Amino acid sequence: MYVTCLILKLNKEIYSEALKQKKKETKPAAASNTVEAKQTQIRTDREINSEFLKQKNNVTKPDTASNTGEAKQELRTDGQSLFSRYCEPCFRGNKESITFSWCSDCEETLCSACDEAHRISKASMSHTAIAVDKMSSITPITVSSYVLCEAHPEINMEFYCSEHSLLCCRACIPTIHRFCSIVSIEDVSKTAKQSALFEKLSIDVKELFDATACLKDRRSNNLEEIIQQELTITSKIKQLKAVFDKHFEKLESKLENEIKQLKQKVVSEVTQNENAIDKLYISLKKHKADFQFVTDHGSNKQAFMLANILKPEIEKKESELNELIALERKIGVEFETNVDNVYLENAIKSLGTIKISETSIEYKNIRPSIAQSMKSKEEKLA
Ligand SMILES: [Zn+2]
Ligand SMILES: [Zn+2]
Ligand SMILES: [Zn+2]
Ligand SMILES: [Zn+2]
Repeated sequence: MYVTCLILKLNKEIYSEALKQKKKETKPAAASNTVEAKQTQIRTDREINSEFLKQKNNVTKPDTASNTGEAKQELRTDGQSLFSRYCEPCFRGNKESITFSWCSDCEETLCSACDEAHRISKASMSHTAIAVDKMSSITPITVSSYVLCEAHPEINMEFYCSEHSLLCCRACIPTIHRFCSIVSIEDVSKTAKQSALFEKLSIDVKELFDATACLKDRRSNNLEEIIQQELTITSKIKQLKAVFDKHFEKLESKLENEIKQLKQKVVSEVTQNENAIDKLYISLKKHKADFQFVTDHGSNKQAFMLANILKPEIEKKESELNELIALERKIGVEFETNVDNVYLENAIKSLGTIKISETSIEYKNIRPSIAQSMKSKEEKLA
């Protein structure tokens, strides 16, 4: 689009330059008003026109122009309007007035004075002139009916072939459209704004634009969803850590309960004969004190009496002690586990998988005709 803008601008510049040249050359001739001068003027006009067409043709090859860095730079710095800066009628009158509006019938720029005159002049009062500052978003194609033929790049397309549905130039008629009925664009375009084609294409463009806007929306929504999905997945992975912690706490408290119960059982087994042992301990302590006393302070008679009285008792105590020792077991609690790095790595090899998900899009938002063609394409592929 920018390339075309530039072209249009260049065209105007070339044309203005050509006009200036023409003025310089034709002024003395006009003054003398001789036949020779008239011939010169006609020749000059032709030269200007063909020069203009040649140059225009040169710049209407956007591919070659935009491939050079120079052209690109020009395009970028080209913040200028699509239209000539100067009023074209005034320019023809050798005056420079700033452009105010653009007449779509004449396809030329007008200053505010010429705009005023254009509106009241009988010849042009039906024309439509639009202020150029209200036309900032339009493209060159909407403001030009001057299009060169692709096959004959020096000739303007002025005809229409309804058989081929093609625009063509006068040189095309005897060749590709030899047997077609040809009408002039001038004649055939008189009610074009009310034509079915213009109306249909206007609706088509609007619908296509809406469908493209929907596509853009869906795409940007999709991008937002992906960003959101990443956040959700990251937080779910974090939640898995909490799941681990919770499960660990559960297993931990289970083991704690187990050790409590086992400890109780073990302790009760260890303390099972505590009373008997204590009783034996106390009575032997007493006997020990008795013997110690008699050893230290008693008479032999007392020693004889004590030994003979306590003999069966001590024999009984010995067998009691032997029984208790026979029952004695050293018991305790111990912890065994096979949970370690290797166990965990084998038990839980991964926390999950992440994969690309794809949902098929129903073509309900776009035009029925396109949806139908998409469907049949899919069916062919399937
Ligand atoms: Zn003017
Ligand atoms: Zn006009
Ligand atoms: Zn042609
Ligand atoms: Zn044809």
